[in-house]
Amino acid sequence: MKRIALLGATGSIGASALDVIARHPDRFAVQALSAASRVDALVELCQRFRPHYAVIADGSRAGDLADGLRRHGLPTEALAGPEALDFIAAEPGSDTVIAAIVGAAGLSSTLAAAEAGKTLLLANKEAVVMAGPLLFAALGRSGARLLPIDSEHNAIFQCLPGDFRRDPDNAGVARLLLTASGGPFLDWPAERLARATPEQACAHPNWRMGRKISVDSATLMNKGLEVIEAHWLFGMPAGRIEVLVHPQSLVHSLVEYVDGSLLAQLGSPDMRTVLAHALAWPERISAGVGRLDLLRAGRLDFLPPDRQRFPCLDLAYAALHTGGGAPCILNAANEEAVAAFLAGGLPFPGIPAVVEATLAAVDAGPIQDLPAILDLDARARHFAGREIQRRGGMSATAAMDRTAWVK
Ligand code: NAD
Ligand code: MG
Repeated sequence: MKRIALLGATGSIGASALDVIARHPDRFAVQALSAASRVDALVELCQRFRPHYAVIADGSRAGDLADGLRRHGLPTEALAGPEALDFIAAEPGSDTVIAAIVGAAGLSSTLAAAEAGKTLLLANKEAVVMAGPLLFAALGRSGARLLPIDSEHNAIFQCLPGDFRRDPDNAGVARLLLTASGGPFLDWPAERLARATPEQACAHPNWRMGRKISVDSATLMNKGLEVIEAHWLFGMPAGRIEVLVHPQSLVHSLVEYVDGSLLAQLGSPDMRTVLAHALAWPERISAGVGRLDLLRAGRLDFLPPDRQRFPCLDLAYAALHTGGGAPCILNAANEEAVAAFLAGGLPFPGIPAVVEATLAAVDAGPIQDLPAILDLDARARHFAGREIQRRGGMSATAAMDRTAWVK
C-alpha cells in the first residue's frame, strides 16, 4: 500500500490524481490533502478519501477547516498555513508526495519532500525552474526518487532506459524533442493576439488545466518552463532540447538516440494516464482512460514554433543559457504578468514584454539556498509589478494577490 500526500488536491492535477487513486483502493491510501483557500472543496475531499491530515494554506481559514471537518464527524487533523504544507510533505506517514501546487507557492514543500526522501511525483514545474540545483542536491542527499508528471517529461521518462541516471551521453541519447499543442492561439495573427482575453487564453483546445498553466500554454511560456524542467530532470544541455508544435497532442514527447532511433510515447490527452504511470511505477495499472484509436486520429502533424509571435519560448531558452538565478527571475516575472493578465490589468503581449524587461533589469546573483531564491523571487516580482503599472496596467499584487488562479 502506497501512502500519498497530495499537495494541491483541489486543482486539475489533484483531480486526476484522486480519480486514479479512487480506482485502486487496494494500492493507494491518502495520508494528506491540501488546498489554497477553498475549505468546502477540501472538506468534501476529506469525506471521500479520509486523510490523516488536511491543510489549508490560507492561515485565516484554519478555524473554518476545523469546523468543517468536525461538522462531518471526520477524524482528519486540520492544519493551516504554508509551514503546514512543508510538514505534510515531510512527515513519515506518507511515502509518496504529489507536488501539484501551482507556481512558486509549491517550492518549499517540494524541497521538503525531496529532503525527506519521499518518492516525488512532480507536476509543480515552477519549483524546478526556480531551484533545479537545490532540488537535485536534496534528492541526492536523501536518495529520493523523482517521477515526472508533466506529460512531456513523463513521456520522455518512459522512452529512456530504466537505469537512466541524468547522463544522456552515457545512455546514447542525442536529443529530447518536447511537443507543444501550440495552445488556443496557434493560428492567431499578432494583431488579434493584442486583444486576446483571459477566457480565450484559458480555452485550451486539448487539455483542461488550471488557469495559470493555460495562459502559459497560450504564450508558449509553458513550453519554455518545460525546456528548463527537462534540462534539470534529464541532465540535458539546452542546445539538445528541441520544441515541436504538434496540434493533435497525441505524441507527448520523444527521445532521439545517437543511432537514429526516435522513441515516442503516445496516448489520449488525459493526465490520468500520466498519474497512473507514476503512481504505480514500475508497474502498470488502469487509469480510466479510453484507448487511443490511431485510425480515428488519422494524422499526426509537426510544425516549428513561431518564435516571433510567441517570444516567451526564447526568453526561457535565454534564461537557461544565462543560468544562475535567471530562470527564477523568468518564473517570478511570468507569474506576476500572468496574474495581471488574468485580472484584466495587462494585455496578452504584455506578458513577454514584462518578462523580458525584468530579466534585463534584475541582477540574478547567486542562488545557493532557499532564502536566496525567495529573495530573488521577491525582487523580480517587485520589478515586474512596477513594470506592469508603468505599462498602464494595475499591479498584479494590488489587483488580486493572485486569486485569479487560486482554487
Ligand atoms: P490548478 O490551478 O488547477 O490547481 C492548483 C492547486 O494548487 C490547487 O489545489 C490550489 O488550491 C493550490 N494552490 C494554488 N495556490 C496555492 C498557494 N498559494 N498555496 C497553496 N496551494 C496553492 O493548477 P493545475 O493545472 O492543477 O497545475 C498544478 C501544477 O501542475 C502547475 O505547476 C502546472 O504547471 C502543473 N501541470 C499541470 C498540468 C495539467 O494538466 N493541469 C499538466 C502538467 C503540469
Ligand atoms: Mg506539460
